[in-house]
Amino acid sequence: MAKISYERPVITKLNTGTMNKFGTRTEFAPVTHIDGVSVKKLIADYGSPCFVISERTIRNTYRNAVRAFKTRYPKVQFAWSYKTNYLNAVCNVFHQEGSWAEVVSIFEYEKALRNGVAGEKIIFNGPDKSEEDLIKAVENNSLIHIDHSDELYMLVEVLGKIKKKARVAIRVNMDTGVYPMWDRFGFNYENGTAWATINKIFAHPELELVGLHCHIGTYMLTAHAYSVATSKLCDLAINVKYRYGKNIEYLDLGGGFASANTLKGSYLQGGDIIPTMDDYAEAITSTILNYGFKMDELPTLFLETGRALIDDAGYLLGSVIAIKRLSDGRRATIMDFGVNLLFTSFWYNHRISPAQEISSQTEDMVLYGPLCMNIDVVRESINLPLLNKGDQVVVHRVGAYNMTQWMQFIQMRPRIVMIGMDGTPHVIREKESLDTMLRYERLPEHLEKIG
Ligand SMILES: *Cc1c(COP(=O)(O)O)cnc(C)c1O
Repeated sequence: MAKISYERPVITKLNTGTMNKFGTRTEFAPVTHIDGVSVKKLIADYGSPCFVISERTIRNTYRNAVRAFKTRYPKVQFAWSYKTNYLNAVCNVFHQEGSWAEVVSIFEYEKALRNGVAGEKIIFNGPDKSEEDLIKAVENNSLIHIDHSDELYMLVEVLGKIKKKARVAIRVNMDTGVYPMWDRFGFNYENGTAWATINKIFAHPELELVGLHCHIGTYMLTAHAYSVATSKLCDLAINVKYRYGKNIEYLDLGGGFASANTLKGSYLQGGDIIPTMDDYAEAITSTILNYGFKMDELPTLFLETGRALIDDAGYLLGSVIAIKRLSDGRRATIMDFGVNLLFTSFWYNHRISPAQEISSQTEDMVLYGPLCMNIDVVRESINLPLLNKGDQVVVHRVGAYNMTQWMQFIQMRPRIVMIGMDGTPHVIREKESLDTMLRYERLPEHLEKIG
């Protein structure tokens, strides 16, 4: 009898989707439809990868935020943070819902104007406003949120030249008990710079201080930080009233509310630990109401929340290009989207679902993108069902910052589709092509021919 040849034993960990004391596992359940539209059909019609945005989710999320604030406080105004997602279709959903525009560059400012937002409903934030930008903002009667003294002095000079007045606020930074402190933008509260700047503004009759602004950070995991920030802005407003007899028209608490994404390194799922919109609203509104303003002199509350209003509405659909084994035996799955499209994968562990029924066996794997670049890792280690070439996936909660911070590196950016309220998909941004790129290139005459 021939000797049986030796085979090295292998131990393979199999995780099946069995019941446990918490019930059945649900995170690998396939997601086959978005707002009733088939994922397979979306990919067939619009390509892989492609972004999908749910208009219904935007409106529902926005209305819930407005409800949380307006049921607690009489004067509330939201302003959509353009940099979070400045696709016109997205901005206009927010504008139709009643949101103003919050912009941080002249590019965004002009985008808001072209979307039909009235100049006086645009809040102009950010550290980089040129003389021309300021003139444009003054002429449109926009709210200029001054970031630093050099901007203040430039504005005073500009107003002298054009003989106009400006409605301004200052951005205030402060210690809210969350570190590292965001102190690079605006004027500090604790060291007195914010108050000194307010006094400088009152020394210039061509400047009208109408508001006070802060944006204390992003993905804030404690609503209490907003109570602290609100009371510091209220303190400045009350002092303005005592010294100058002027009512500050609005307090702008900025953005920074967390979305339900899970931060890398977090033990618990984002959705289980973030404050609710009601928690943030309670912290802010009760602080203003308790502070001591006369009821008919309450400032309007402005909010510029970005990611919390749009993350849930965005999906990225993609496909598996290939599977391979790394030298240490780990499974690697190569997707047709990477950090070029999913900038937020640098700090979030996005939830990823298969788009079709798939094996109930799972394995820890590395998820790579398509770039020929070592840092293109969507996930160092993720437990997923055994995806194969051609399988499709849905990445959840990608509505914030990906469609503005994406990068064009060796690949063109894909289509973005919005599913309307009636379930109709609309292309809201076309995919880029070689022509898109070549439009901006210029070839000197002596380099036109290579033969
Ligand atoms: C980015 C930004 C926002 C929105 O921040 P989120 O963390 O997405 O809510 C609001 N205001 C200002 C000034 C910003 O720079």
